[in-house]
Parts: sequence; C-alpha cells; structure tokens
Amino acid sequence: MQQVDVVVIGGGAAGLFCAIEAGKRGRKVLVLEHAERIGKKIAISGGGRCNFTNLNTSPDNFISDNRHFCKSALARYTPGDFVSLVEKHGIPYHEKKLGQLFCDGSSRTIIEMLLTEASAAGVEIRCGSLVRGVAKREHFEVETNNGTITSQSLVVATGGLSIPPLGATDFGYRLARQFGLTIRAPWPALVPFTLSRETLRELTTLSGISIDAVVSCQGQQFRENILVTHRGLSGPAILQISSYWRSGLSIAINLLPDHDALKLLLEPESKDITLANFLSQFLPRRFAFAWCALNFPSQPLKRYTPGQLATIAQKLNNWEVVPTGTEGYKKAEVTAGGIATEELSSQTMVVKNIPSLYFIGEVVDVTGQLGGYNFQWAWASGYAAGQNA
Ligand SMILES: Cc1cc2nc3c(=O)[nH]c(=O)nc-3n(C[C@H](O)[C@H](O)[C@H](O)COP(=O)(O)OP(=O)(O)OC[C@H]3O[C@@H](n4cnc5c(N)ncnc54)[C@H](O)[C@@H]3O)c2cc1C
Repeated sequence: MQQVDVVVIGGGAAGLFCAIEAGKRGRKVLVLEHAERIGKKIAISGGGRCNFTNLNTSPDNFISDNRHFCKSALARYTPGDFVSLVEKHGIPYHEKKLGQLFCDGSSRTIIEMLLTEASAAGVEIRCGSLVRGVAKREHFEVETNNGTITSQSLVVATGGLSIPPLGATDFGYRLARQFGLTIRAPWPALVPFTLSRETLRELTTLSGISIDAVVSCQGQQFRENILVTHRGLSGPAILQISSYWRSGLSIAINLLPDHDALKLLLEPESKDITLANFLSQFLPRRFAFAWCALNFPSQPLKRYTPGQLATIAQKLNNWEVVPTGTEGYKKAEVTAGGIATEELSSQTMVVKNIPSLYFIGEVVDVTGQLGGYNFQWAWASGYAAGQNA
C-alpha cells in the first residue's frame, strides 16, 4: 500500500494549486485525477484564453450562505500574487475589461505553469485514477481503481457538477455526506436561461443578436450584453444574473439603460414614427420589431394613448421575463452551493471536527461571479489548504 503525506483528489485548478503549496513545504503529495489529463476546465476556460483572475476581486463577487467565509483566504492569496506567478513564468496576458485578466495565448500556458510548479515541488500527479471510496482509520485510506493509498491529510478538490463530459462528478458531495457534513443543495450557475415556446416564437429568429442591457433579479443587477439564443437568453449579463435566479422568479431587463423611455416616447419629433421604427434607433432593428410583435402591435406613436405610452415605457425600462428554466449543468460554468461553510475553517479549509480532511475550490459553497473570480477562489482556497495539509 502506497503511503504519502497528502492525497489531493481532483487535478483541477484548486487541487493542483494546493498540491504545489503543500509540496513546497516538503510534504509528499499525490494528486489523483480520474480523467486522462489534468486541468480540462482550465483548458477550455475563457474561450481558450483562461480568464485566470480578476484584479477587482472582493468578497462581494461571491455567492455563499456566509458571505464572510471567503474573506480570509482571498486576503492571504490575492490576484496580485497569482499575477506575479504568471509573470515569473513569462506568460503574456492582458486585461480585457472590468479587471478580467486573460492569457494573450492559449490557456495551456497556465496548465504548463502549474505542471512546472508541481514538478519543482516534487508533486506526483496520477491521471486515470478514479477514487472509489475513502475510509478514515488512523490515517485516510483512499481506494482507487489502481489500489489503495494511505495519507495523513486528504484534500477534496473534485469541483462541482457542471459539464459532466469534462470529468465532473458528485464525489465531493458524497464524501462530505459520508463524513456527516452539511451540504447546501447545489444549483447550476452562470448558465443560459430557457424561455417559453410563445416567447421563443417571436425571438427565435433573433438568435445571435446581442444588446447592451441592465438585468436584475433579487436585488442584484448587471450591465453587460444579453444574447438571444435559439433556446432562450444568454450573454454575460444573463449568465451573471442566473446565479441569483430561482425557479418561478422573473428577471427584469432594462433595454434602454441610458434613457428614461417615457421621455423619449413623448418627444414631439417622435409622434409620426411607428413604435418599431422608433425603437430601431436604440436597439437592433430586428430585435425592435420582434419585441413589438411580442408585446405591443407597432403603430405610429401618436396613436397610442398617454396611458399606453406609459405602459410601453415601463416595459422598455423594466421588461419582466419569466424563464422556464436554465440549460442546467450541461451548460453551467459553475455549480453554486456545496459543502456548507460552517463545516470548514475559513483559515485552512480543514473540516472543523475532522482534522486533516480539507475541501477546496468549487465543491465548497463559495461561487464567484463571471470574470475570473472562480479561478481566484480556486487558487486562494488551494493556497490556504496547501499551507496546512
Ligand atoms: C466552459 C467554462 C469556462 C470557464 N471559464 C472560466 C474563466 O475564464 N475564469 C474563471 O475564473 N472560471 C471559469 N470557469 C469556472 C472554473 O473553471 C471553475 O470554477 C474551476 O475550474 C473550479 O476549480 P476546481 O479545481 O474546484 O474544480 P475543477 O476544475 O472542476 O476540477 C475538479 C477535478 O476533479 C476531478 N474529479 C472529479 N471527481 C473525481 C474522482 N472521483 N476521482 C478523481 N478525480 C475526480 C475532475 O475530473 C476535475 O479534473 C469556467 C468553467 C467552464 C465550465
């Protein structure tokens, strides 16, 4: 039976980073990854260029039952720390917008950086190694398809349920249950919405059109593009708000975020123009026509009563849409919910009443907004556990 100091289950961003840090401390570390290669999500992230952190990271960018939990780890390993590492490896990068840092080249450069660091720290990485179960006696006994390994510390970095073909499993949640830990029920986040057949009938021809809008739900709001898809709505503003949405709720879309729509509609020079043509000055033309077909038959503005104009304006600045659902884990960039934070030390990620068992990364109930925050959480929580495991 092989013996090591630390077994890390999951060779994604969090697991690799934790392994590197523990290895640097002289610990004998083994990473077990069931896929045939590590870092599959890193490879496809950020459209292949990996949005590896966000310069503006703050605890407010995360969803969790306990909004304070992430503070300690984020403070001890900052975006600046990760940028220094990226620069040490000579990886060219740029800020795209809103503090989001992307590689100039391929995401693979980040994976190669992690592999180089892991090798320098003496970390062993074993791919094709599926963890079947874990028992805790004096040490952990980790049963894999290639035999059993014993370790003093066990770090669970198996991620969430998103994108099963990339290796996602519910193993982390199952293991947490086995050890009696509370789990906050997971849900797909950063995910496109689906719409009713009636709404899609008008909008489906607009597939691919994107609009600058403010989208809000449950007191949160985001201004970025929304994108019409053949199944519903996507785009950065929609992905962001999806993390806060729950089944049955509506989302509000302000299609004219820079204008008071009623003021525009009441301008004297607006009187003879039809509603659809009028809106085409502010929105993509095809969208303006479809939106009118869906909501208000278009006619010259002068034919609407003041009350009707007020209703139209209200809908332009606050278009309420009730999604029928989301595209689920097959399309969700992350899984929200997870191991309840009250079970873990915010300093080290260790399970409070099971010394030497750690949970890090996406499997924990800490979920970042869109924009590099999820990787920053993976690095920071991995770093925190790596100083201790
Ligand atoms: C399409 C897409 C694009 C994204 N782009 C970005 C981005 O640009 N910026 C950003 O910040 N975030 C992005 N994310 C989110 C980010 O990738 C994740 O939040 C992050 O990878 C989580 O890291 P993790 O290590 O916790 O989990 P993961 O990266 O999911 O790693 C978990 C690993 O555990 C392995 N595993 C699971 N079960 C077992 C088992 N039983 N035995 C052995 N191994 C197991 C899995 O194969 C996987 O390799 C994106 C996500 C997706 C899906």
